[in-house]
Amino acid sequence: MRYYVLDRGDQLSIELSERFHKLAAGYGFELDAQSPEIVVSIGGDGTMLHAFHTFIDHIPDLAFVGIHTGHLGFYADWKADELEELVKFMAGEMQDNDDNNPNIVKYPLVDLEIQAKSGVSRYTALNEFTLKGLDGTTIVAQVDINDEIFEMFRGDGICISTPSGSTAYNKALGGAMVHPTIEALQIAEIASINNRVYRTLGSSMMLPKHHHCDIHSRKPQRLQLTIDHLNIPIDDLISIRCQVSNMRVSFARYRPYPFWNRVRQSFLG
Ligand code: NAD
Repeated sequence: MRYYVLDRGDQLSIELSERFHKLAAGYGFELDAQSPEIVVSIGGDGTMLHAFHTFIDHIPDLAFVGIHTGHLGFYADWKADELEELVKFMAGEMQDNDDNNPNIVKYPLVDLEIQAKSGVSRYTALNEFTLKGLDGTTIVAQVDINDEIFEMFRGDGICISTPSGSTAYNKALGGAMVHPTIEALQIAEIASINNRVYRTLGSSMMLPKHHHCDIHSRKPQRLQLTIDHLNIPIDDLISIRCQVSNMRVSFARYRPYPFWNRVRQSFLG
């Protein structure tokens, strides 16, 4: 098996990473930074986001596994003291199903195409992307759905999340939790201005895979785009097209960890 490990850089994560390499060598796994089959993220959800963007050009060819070393990670199934067990599962020495393979779960992603005066750029988000004013300024943006004007947004910003990202920033905005088998994106408002003059829908919305949404900048404005943990300032935005990606991200599950269990354990205890 070809594998790679990305850790958060704190002492425990580094120690686990070193331990993983030793155990992996014992089973004949091959460390491969270019084309791994499995990428192990050791740290928190931020580490998994980092791992995802590090391997963004190889997403269809690999699966992620997460070990959390802080509080419970949403993308991480394994605790620090379960490292040996995980490696045994990876080596096929332990198994939870009849065949010797992990259950691969695939989660939807969101694609963005950003048109700016300076050019076009493309990104894929695992959690979400947000558009906000730089320095906390109010943004003005026209939101189109499937090429028809939907609303003129004024407020702090807009958050577009994937189903697995619905439990992250989107949750703090009052958006719905979405099971990752639903191929959709969710549009949530960040503090919209609503009065007799300005009007937005006020609720979050979900678009299915074959729909798209365009956000047009409607005044000269200094904006901040976040894509997961990445921050990009932009002052010449024309528009952003968002849609559910054709690509999905894979997670290797060596034992079951249903989404709703994760939601319950993370948020209700
Ligand atoms: P981080 O790693 O400190 O993450 C911030 C928090 O979000 C952590 O508690 C993390 O466990 C949690 N989180 C991340 N992805 C999650 C998911 N899919 N489901 C449930 N919880 C999740 O910070 P970072 O490395 O900068 O990570 C960026 C992420 O932080 C963004 O993708 C965004 O979702 C999240 N965020 C949340 C808020 C908020 O909830 N108000 C605000 C900003 C950013």
